[in-house]
Amino acid sequence: MVNKSIENKTVDIAIIGGGIAGLWTLARLRQAGYQAILFEADHLGCVQSGASQGIIHGGTKYALTGKLTHSSQAIQQMPHRWQDCLDGQGEVDLSQAKKLSEHQYLWSNKSLAAKITGFFASKVMSSRMQHLQKQDYVAPFNQADFSGELYQLDEPVLDIQSVIDAIRQQFSDFIFQAHVKDITELMVNAAQENSESKESYAYQIAFSEQLNNQKSALIANTLILTAGAGNENLLSSLNFSQPKMQRRPLFMPMLKAKQSILPKMYAHCLGASALPKMTITAHHLSADQTVWYLGGEIAEKGVGRTIKEQVQVAKKELQSLMPWMDFSQCQWSALAIDRAEPEMSDGSRPVEPAVFRQNQVITAWPVKLAMAPIMVDKIIDELELAGIEKNSQPLLLSTSVLGAMSMAQTSPLPWEKVKNWL
Ligand SMILES: Cc1cc2nc3c(=O)[nH]c(=O)nc-3n(C[C@H](O)[C@H](O)[C@H](O)COP(=O)(O)OP(=O)(O)OC[C@H]3O[C@@H](n4cnc5c(N)ncnc54)[C@H](O)[C@@H]3O)c2cc1C
Repeated sequence: MVNKSIENKTVDIAIIGGGIAGLWTLARLRQAGYQAILFEADHLGCVQSGASQGIIHGGTKYALTGKLTHSSQAIQQMPHRWQDCLDGQGEVDLSQAKKLSEHQYLWSNKSLAAKITGFFASKVMSSRMQHLQKQDYVAPFNQADFSGELYQLDEPVLDIQSVIDAIRQQFSDFIFQAHVKDITELMVNAAQENSESKESYAYQIAFSEQLNNQKSALIANTLILTAGAGNENLLSSLNFSQPKMQRRPLFMPMLKAKQSILPKMYAHCLGASALPKMTITAHHLSADQTVWYLGGEIAEKGVGRTIKEQVQVAKKELQSLMPWMDFSQCQWSALAIDRAEPEMSDGSRPVEPAVFRQNQVITAWPVKLAMAPIMVDKIIDELELAGIEKNSQPLLLSTSVLGAMSMAQTSPLPWEKVKNWL
């Protein structure tokens, strides 16, 4: 285990939580000249970010549900913004990250084809969607037995582990593994150069373990909470009653087999409601093994089932959606995981990233991995509004505490953690 010291460095912003939200924030803030560091309790990306399907949405999902409002139109820029980063020319350098697929596909069975064709011909969809001719069909739809319609959607799928790793490698000097247990708000008077004094706040951060028998606490003058579901406990330790958070649980089936059985595929199956019945993404497991990870309606409806029950339902549903395929050689599992988001009064899914500021504490949820760039734009606006200076001196920084911390590593992916496949 490598220990690091940040002796002689001044730090004034502490980011708590190392999923995509915290990492994107760290990268943008350091590039903008803010002295920021990040604390991750476990491994980077070990909760929602690593468990995501890696889809960089451009708003189609919202268009399908009729929620493509004026405000959510910023989402349409996301595929371009991420592409600039992948090309090494964007706000965060992702030139070392990998894409799993340039496109996603949408398919429907024959009975729904007419309805869906009409919808995709509509103005809102036609620029982003291409109706494919049979000779252009990709695996596993390039089979004589497939009788539906196939559309190609201009939204990429990323290898999220490689995205997280690309950011970690560039900023590893500022990423520490430590579970923040408790935060206390302190009010202080910071002396100003012109000898006037200004009311200001500072935050004492306590960690869950004693590090090398040293007192495991430090003080930072600005906090950014990007701990996903962990934001709830952090806010309560600050005695903040707002913002409130909601969890929307998912139970994601997964199956593994040789790539000759499970080809690489990134596709949404559309049902009668025009909401994806199932969203399938393929991931690399080993030299000759692929995993299919199943999201969409099946993951939402599966909450409350046992793993065995969810696997049974997934087997049946997948076979009925893709009757031309043979899944008998596959091994199965399922992952229970919550989406953590700002609370909506009616419990519905939020469509935009949420950023809240109280004193010098900013709490943020990106809502979608794809929308992390918009979330960080909002964080930077808040820092400017609050007058947080770049390169300002921290009120007090206990370098001895940080010197005893180790660097946070990138998390394995959910299918790499499964011990017993069914
Ligand atoms: C199954 C699933 C599939 C998804 N698919 C997609 C998709 O395809 N495309 C898309 O755009 N979005 C997708 N999403 C949504 C997306 O994954 C999330 O919006 C995004 O990853 C949230 O990132 P985050 O950094 O806020 O949270 P997280 O990734 O959950 O990260 C929070 C981090 O904070 C750490 N932490 C918590 N408490 C503390 C503490 N006290 N001290 C220190 N560290 C702490 C945790 O260990 C964790 O690493 C999906 C979500 C799920 C659950």
